[in-house]
Amino acid sequence: MKDDCIFCKIATGKIPSATVYEDSHFRVILDINPATKGHCLIIPKEHFDNIYDLDGETAGKLFSLATCIARAMRDALGCDGMNIVQNNGEIAGQTVLHFHLHLIPRYEGDGVQLTWKPNESNEEELEEIRKAIRKEI
Ligand code: AMP
Ligand code: ZN
Repeated sequence: MKDDCIFCKIATGKIPSATVYEDSHFRVILDINPATKGHCLIIPKEHFDNIYDLDGETAGKLFSLATCIARAMRDALGCDGMNIVQNNGEIAGQTVLHFHLHLIPRYEGDGVQLTWKPNESNEEELEEIRKAIRKEI
């Protein structure tokens, strides 16, 4: 628990939230400023700044929970699709520095934009990057 962290307070129930699910590890809430109707956040009760800090066991439990929540949202909301988004670092759009997973229901014509412009690459560059990442795993 980090004293100055709003999601620590929400996850542990010190600040009320629109909770759709809770267990000993996670709280799932409705985003207060939803991208679309039913936008949910899965928040671990333990504080992790971002994905780099998250341990494998928690990550496994979290994604397993995400499959269950996603199906419940699809059935409850009748959405046409869903984006799973997780931001790390300011440049990537992270505004709350406590790891959380966004589940964003998508509806025809909702106007949400989560796209990017595909860039050109080449075999040599891909091979160099592939090797660099592989070496660190
Ligand atoms: P991110 O930009 O990935 O860090 O996402 C933070 C999300 O938390 C945003 O979508 C906010 O709307 C949401 N948020 C911030 N404060 C609250 C709160 N008190 N209750 C519910 N959602 C919140
Ligand atoms: Zn926290």
